[in-house]
Amino acid sequence: MFPTTSLRRSIVHHLTLALLCLGVSTIACGEDALDRMTRKKLQATREAIANLKKERIEVTQPRPLKTYRANLHVHSHWSHDSRGQIEDIVAAAKRADTDILMFTEHPASHYDIVKDGHQGMRDGVLLIPGAETKGLLAYPKASIRNADAMGTEEYFGAVQQTDGLAFISHLEERMDLDIPGITGNEIYNTHADFKEEKRLVSSMRNPLWLINTAPMIQEYPQEALLALLDYPADYLKRWDAMSATARHTGVAANDAHQNVGVRLRLIEKDMVRVEDALGEKILELNRKAAAELIPIKEDAKEGEIVFQLLLDPYENSLRHAGTYLLLPEQSQAAVWDALLHSRAYVCFDGLASGRGLQWFASSKENQERVEIGGKVKAKGGVVFSGYSPQKATWKIIHDGQQVHTATGYECQYETSKPGQYRAELWLDAPQPKIWILTNPITVE
Ligand SMILES: [Zn+2]
Repeated sequence: MFPTTSLRRSIVHHLTLALLCLGVSTIACGEDALDRMTRKKLQATREAIANLKKERIEVTQPRPLKTYRANLHVHSHWSHDSRGQIEDIVAAAKRADTDILMFTEHPASHYDIVKDGHQGMRDGVLLIPGAETKGLLAYPKASIRNADAMGTEEYFGAVQQTDGLAFISHLEERMDLDIPGITGNEIYNTHADFKEEKRLVSSMRNPLWLINTAPMIQEYPQEALLALLDYPADYLKRWDAMSATARHTGVAANDAHQNVGVRLRLIEKDMVRVEDALGEKILELNRKAAAELIPIKEDAKEGEIVFQLLLDPYENSLRHAGTYLLLPEQSQAAVWDALLHSRAYVCFDGLASGRGLQWFASSKENQERVEIGGKVKAKGGVVFSGYSPQKATWKIIHDGQQVHTATGYECQYETSKPGQYRAELWLDAPQPKIWILTNPITVE
């Protein structure tokens, strides 16, 4: 016989309290994602997203380049901390409306990042191999020998020699690092955003909390990720400072692993193994005790997974944050050119798709259109124009300072002051949430 839902909840509640007293969880103050992860708030986010869909318009301005969605910082089974199979990741990318996957595997001696890494076109998705190593997202075009012994700068030099690209990753761990010639840096990292949610992180270490919260997260997987989303103020401050001296293309990092979660597996007649999402053992319980937490079918077989919760399935993780690139075609050469010239903007597509956004500058003298990442002469004045498929709050940031704000589908701003100009777009979901961060256009 299984205990009733309320009895089950009460058992979980008491066990959770007991674990809290044992120091399994720590108690901190201040609102974080844990407070935003209530059914009521996740439902309010879902309704806000549905309203945004209704308000969506098509941007009909002619544009010279096409928009492709890319995900940088993606791990697969090549990485020790992921089990992701390429066909599942590509299928998830398609559901998340992604056109380009740029993998960043943890290097290991049993494979070669460039030769063995996922590459080429697969089912309409362009795959590009790379590595997460030495604090960088690195995309060398040829294998690098003896990389283990190299420091970050030396390694970047080797990547550059292959005509590769590299971005500084996890900025919060290396706020002082700047490398001459580096392609750019992450301006958002989902994992860093998550780590900041101290109370949520400690709750998640508790399998009982996970089991208890599972039904809600399974019902609202995208909204749960949006509950993590904070404006990356520290990253942007550092990025603006670095951009003042040299071009640094800002990209979003998903850090997609599909490795956060818990599952319960029946291992022998009377035992249940609690595993993490990679299959590593957390603890073992006898079946009776486990059945007080979750219903286990009488005829469940040995080896069967009787409960599973994944907090970061590829599809949701890839949709959460993406980098749109302005390209003439879907090819690696075009991707390289766009990333080297900052023709990119970051978007949190869990709120609304960022496809179709336009942000460009025109010189008043010759009317020439300059795309994101480009340069325009200050002489005679410059007009910035923005068109969005969603009604948004626009913020124009000049060298790190906000100089203009407007609400609507369009935004215009005129200036003749030199510097870097980037746009931020915010949506109400239902609270104001950052939606799009463009790379800057330079007025010189
Ligand atoms: Zn990673």
